[in-house]
Amino acid sequence: MSRVNLLGLDLSALTEFVATLDEKPFRARQLARWIHQHGASSFDAMTDLAKSLRGKLAQRAEIVAPVVLRDTIAPDGTRKWLLDVGAGDAVETVFIPEQGRGTLCVSTQAGCAMGCVFCATGAQGFSRNLTTAEIIGQLWLAEHLLRQPSGDRAISNVVLMGMGEPLQNLDAVVPALRLMVDDHGYGLSRRRVTVSTSGLVRQMDKLAALCPVALAVSLHAPNDALRDQLVPLNRKHPLRDLMAACRRYLRVAPRDFITFEYVMLDGINDRDEHARELIALVADVPCKFNLIPFNPFPGSTLRRSSPQRIRAFAQILAEAGIVTTVRRTRGEEIDAACGQLAGAVQDRTRRRLRADRLPPLVAAA
Ligand code: SF4
Repeated sequence: MSRVNLLGLDLSALTEFVATLDEKPFRARQLARWIHQHGASSFDAMTDLAKSLRGKLAQRAEIVAPVVLRDTIAPDGTRKWLLDVGAGDAVETVFIPEQGRGTLCVSTQAGCAMGCVFCATGAQGFSRNLTTAEIIGQLWLAEHLLRQPSGDRAISNVVLMGMGEPLQNLDAVVPALRLMVDDHGYGLSRRRVTVSTSGLVRQMDKLAALCPVALAVSLHAPNDALRDQLVPLNRKHPLRDLMAACRRYLRVAPRDFITFEYVMLDGINDRDEHARELIALVADVPCKFNLIPFNPFPGSTLRRSSPQRIRAFAQILAEAGIVTTVRRTRGEEIDAACGQLAGAVQDRTRRRLRADRLPPLVAAA
C-alpha cells in the first residue's frame, strides 16, 4: 500500500486521515503541530503520541518534501533553492530577507501556461501542477533551513508569486493556504499571505469563497489592446471583467486594497499617458501599485524602463492618491528576481516552439 504524504493534508483532511486509523480528531492537531511547527519528518520524534499510533503512522504515512538540487545565496542575502519535483521537473523557491521581515516566494506549478511575454517562467512552457505537498513542502523546507539558533522564525510573509499561475491550480493551492494560516500549521496572518494572479476571474471568486488571503493582480497594461499582447489571458478576461472581479474580492479580502503589479517595459507600457489611463481604470478599486523594473532573461528582446522614467510614472500615480512603490530588484545575480524564475520544465505545451511564431510586440505610439 502506498503511503500518504501528510505534508499534503490540511487540518480537515488530516482529521479524516486519523479517523481511518481509529484515532480521535485531536490527534490531527497534534500531528499538524509536529509537522509544521516543529518540522518533524519522523514519527519517532513525536514523543507525545502513543507508540502504537506512531507504529500505525509509520506503516500508512510519510512526511516528504521536495529534494534540494541547488542552494544559492546572493550578495544581498536573497536565497534561492532549486527543488526536484520528479520526472525532470524542478521548481524554484526564493527567500527575501528584509529589515523586520522575511518573505518566501513559493511556486505552484512546474512552468506556466499563461505565456506572459515579460516572464522567464512563461517562456519555458508548462509541465504540470504542483501537489499540495510540493507547495507546502517549500515552506516546510525553508522553515527548516532558515531556523534561527534562537528558535525565531525567519519567514513572516509568504507570496505565491514563484513559478506558475496559482489560481490555475486552486485544488492544491487552497489546502496549502489553509495550512499557512491555520494556528496548528504556520499560523500566518491572512494579510501576510498573498496570492498573485494574472486575472483568472472565476477562480478569484472561488478563492474569495474558499480561503481569502491578500491578493495581487499582475496588471502590466492600462488598456485591453496592450494587455492582450503582454498577458494573453486578457483576451479571455478583459480589464472590465478583471476590475469587477477585484471589487468583488475586496468584499471579503483581509486587506482593504488590491496590489496591482506592473512591470516597467521601456517604450511599451511606461509613458505618462499609460499612468493616466491606469488612474482612470482603477478609479473605483481601492489599490496600491507595485512597479517592477523588468528583469531581462535569455531570449527576451524587452528592455527595462530607465530609473527616471519609473520615478516619473510612479509620481503621476502618487499624485492621484495611489500608494505606489517601486520594487527593489533583489537576487538579480542568482536569477531570483521577479519574472526570472525558471527552474527546469519538461514543456508539454510546446510553448517554446509556438513562441517563435508569435508576432513582435507593438511598442506604444
Ligand atoms: S507572470 Fe505569472 S502568470 Fe504570467 S507567465 Fe509568468 S508565472 Fe505565469
